[in-house]
Amino acid sequence: MPNKKVENVEETARKLLNERGVTVNDIAELVYFLQVPYHPDLKMEVCRENVERVIAKREVQNAILTGICLDVLAEEKKLEHPLQEILARDESLYGIDEIIALSIVNIYGSIGFTNYGFIDKQKPGILEKLNDKSTGKVHTFLDDIVGAIAAAASSRLAHRAANTE
Ligand code: MG
Repeated sequence: MPNKKVENVEETARKLLNERGVTVNDIAELVYFLQVPYHPDLKMEVCRENVERVIAKREVQNAILTGICLDVLAEEKKLEHPLQEILARDESLYGIDEIIALSIVNIYGSIGFTNYGFIDKQKPGILEKLNDKSTGKVHTFLDDIVGAIAAAASSRLAHRAANTE
């Protein structure tokens, strides 16, 4: 398919996130959870703005497209054996979901790693929903991508706050 507009990447990534049950507000709530201990006056609006800026980056959109596409294919049982079973079971030793997520975390430097590790363990809010295996949905990639966007947005917010204080 030549000439499908490249501009569609951001629009499609945002649409896919919404279709898979994740809103900007859900991710902003994770940012709030991560950052409010350090910024007691933090406003949700600031969290939302930082999430928007992270999603506006092409590398992040690429990760969203790739991860959600694989999740949906696994959900529809359209992948080859044994990848189909590995993704459908969300096997913990698979690890490629985390690698894709790290490509997002990397963007804003090393404190992103700390945030990502922490939120992946705590699984607050939308991350708990995405990890609910009783729904029949496959979110093997999406949970890591959402955690990574939150971690990257938190790093961005923290860097900006440090530069204005
Ligand atoms: Mg995962």
